[in-house]
Formats: sequence, C-alpha cells, structure tokens
Amino acid sequence: TNTYDYLIVGSGLFGAVFAHEATKAGKKCLVIDKREHAGGNVYCKEMEGINVHWYGAHIFHTNDKEIWDYVNQFAEFNRYTNSPVANYKGELYNLPFNMNTFYRLWGTKTPEEAKQKIADQIENLGITEPKNMEEQALKLVGPDIYEKLIKHYTEKQWGRKATELPAFIIKRLPVRFTYDNNYFNDKYQGIPVGGYNKIVEGLLKDVEVRLNTDFFADREVLSSLADKIVFTGKIDEYFGYQFGELEYRSLKFEVETLDQENYQGNAVFNYTDADTPYNRVYEHKHFEFGTQPKTVITKEYPLQGSRGLEPYYPVNDENNSAIVKKYQDLAKAEKNVIFGGRLAEYRYYDMHQVIGSALVKAKRELGVSQEEDVAI
Ligand code: FAD
Repeated sequence: TNTYDYLIVGSGLFGAVFAHEATKAGKKCLVIDKREHAGGNVYCKEMEGINVHWYGAHIFHTNDKEIWDYVNQFAEFNRYTNSPVANYKGELYNLPFNMNTFYRLWGTKTPEEAKQKIADQIENLGITEPKNMEEQALKLVGPDIYEKLIKHYTEKQWGRKATELPAFIIKRLPVRFTYDNNYFNDKYQGIPVGGYNKIVEGLLKDVEVRLNTDFFADREVLSSLADKIVFTGKIDEYFGYQFGELEYRSLKFEVETLDQENYQGNAVFNYTDADTPYNRVYEHKHFEFGTQPKTVITKEYPLQGSRGLEPYYPVNDENNSAIVKKYQDLAKAEKNVIFGGRLAEYRYYDMHQVIGSALVKAKRELGVSQEEDVAI
C-alpha cells in the first residue's frame, strides 16, 4: 500500500483546505508546492513589521456565515473595509461609484441630482445592443465615468482596446446612491490579524508539506506515493498541453520600502489614466492599521501571460473556453485524481469561493465528517 492517502499538489487555499479536512477525517496527506513557501497567492511576506501581500492585495469578504466561521477558526479578522481611491491624471475619486464620486465629477449633491445626471449622460448615446465592452460600459454609466474611471484601467488590465473586448466582461457596474465607499456589499469583510499565513499555517498544522517540489519534475515517483491525487496546478500542463495552452493575464509586482510613515493614506489606489503603466498601488500597512515608522508599497503592472510568468487571470474567451472544455473531459476520465482551485478549473475564484469549493469537494470525497461520526 502507498504511504499516503492523498498527494496534494499545491498549498494554496484549495490544497490547504482539502488537506486540513482530509487530515481531520483521519487520512494521511502529503502536500507539495513548487514555490519556496506555502499558501499560494495569499502568501504574505513580512517586511518592516508589515504583512506584504506578495501576490497582490487580498481582501477577504463573504456573505456565507459558514465560510466566515471556518476562516475565523484560524485567525481573528480586523475591521478593514476596502475603499479604493482612483487617481485619474491627479484627480482623485472614491470607488465604487457612489455619491462621493458623483459629487467630485459633477458637483451633484442629492441622489436625485446624481441619477438625473447619469440618465442625461446615457440618453443621447443611442446604444441598445452593446457590441463590445466600451458600448456596454457607456450604456451603463455614461461617458464621464467611463472615460475617467473604466476605459484605460480595463484596457491596461486586458492589454486590448475596449472596443475589441467582449461586452460580457462587464455585466453590471454597481452605482450606489449613498455616500458609502465600501467596495464590497458582503456581510463579512476583513484582513486576518497576523496575515493570511496564519490561516495557512493553521490549515496545514498537522500536515506534511514539501516545498520547492514541482510535481512535473518528478511526476512518476510522487504519484506512486499516494492512492489519490488532489491537483491544484494548471490543467493544461497536467495534460501535457496536448490541446494547446490556456491563455492567462499576468502581473508584475514592484515592491518598495519607503523611509516614511505614510505614503498614500489608503491601502489601495487605482491609476485609471492611460499613461501610468501600473494599474494599482497598495500600501500594505493600511490593511492592518499599521503604525510602523516605515512603509512598504507595491506597484501592480498588468502583463500578457506566457509560460515563464505566473498565471493570474484566465482569459475566458471562446477560444480558451473551448480548449478548457477538452481538458475537463480528460479530467473527468482521469481515475483517482481530483482537480480543484483556480488553475485546475481555469476560472477566477475569490478566496471565499475557493474555500467553499474545497469544502464541498472534500466532503464529497471523504463522506461524513468526523463530527457527524461522533454524533452518530
Ligand atoms: P493558488 O493560490 O494559486 O495555489 C496553487 C498552488 O499550487 C501555488 O502555490 C502553486 O505554486 C502550486 N503549484 C502549481 N503548480 C504546481 C506544480 N506543478 N507542482 C507543485 N505545486 C504547484 N480573492 C479574494 O477573495 N479577495 C481579493 O481581494 C483577491 N485579490 C486577488 C488579487 C490578485 C492579484 C489575484 C491574482 C487574486 C486575488 N484573489 C482575491 C483570489 C485568490 O488569490 C484566490 O482565490 C486563491 O489564491 C486561489 O487559491 P488556489 O489554491 O486555487 O490557487
């Protein structure tokens, strides 16, 4: 018999939650990760006493009480509320679009005035069936908001003209007629005190983890160690890219330590003009109300993905959707392998969603949980 019940490829939230649940159910797990740390993209690196979100800003939010309670087992959450500020050629606007934004744009003071202004903006455009992302956004919010806060940011993010992007990228653009800068509508929101590593450490406390270990560098030997594999890496790579490579958008992060206490006064700034090459600047201490003497910032530059770069955002166009469908058919036929997480499913998942998905798959795989056993 094999040494382990499960070989779990990837120590991101999917792999870590699955490993935690399987271990709790009495299974023996080995988690491997090709990176030098566990946690996948939620990993934080401590610099100047500040938890630096190493793979981009991560704000936890959910409406699901069960998932909120689940993560709160491992860390306490602070009261951080995401309220990004947009910088358009030196003009500052609150996000998401709300009464503060409208006041700054047009001087409107009441919800009625703001609604009228937006209606006037949209009225004369004559767009009924939006043919692309630009028309879709114009139809929803009109030209002022579109030009200053959406167009260039989106074009930088996707590396394509808004007129060449599909309309479905933007389904809705929430406009809020209150003076409320809270980006998310969810009931629960915050940043774990001690950083996301605390949650990952809690999940993997009783689990054997091997870092700097790439599944594909030693596939046969690693596979032979366990009865089953939980795979959270790239699905196209798993199947040897036989139907072609799935396209991703990537990001470059430039991290700087600054010898000042407070650089921008907010955790997240979006740069919504065409000329600034980066889209966001985060100042990490503000995620946790830090009072350290120095500060650490990250500039986030959008990039086209390629094999050497980290894959971040799946490009869910027709071509890629057709390719992923073929890989998914192979995955269904693959015996004793469970595919999960953002790379194996080729879809964007927020943290609460990936945790939810791992819990569902773990439950399905492991049957009744230990607690239920005891209850019986
Ligand atoms: P990952 O975290 O990517 O974990 C996969 C792991 O598998 C990695 O550690 C990788 O090294 C490892 N791996 C891959 N291939 C191999 C291999 N061949 N061998 C060994 N190991 C391998 N969510 C929110 O809820 N709020 C946010 O504010 C938010 N902000 C985000 C900002 C950015 C820039 C990005 C990119 C994502 C953001 N997310 C946010 C989403 C969040 O990062 C994901 O939901 C979560 O990290 C997904 O976990 P995962 O386990 O699926 O994947």
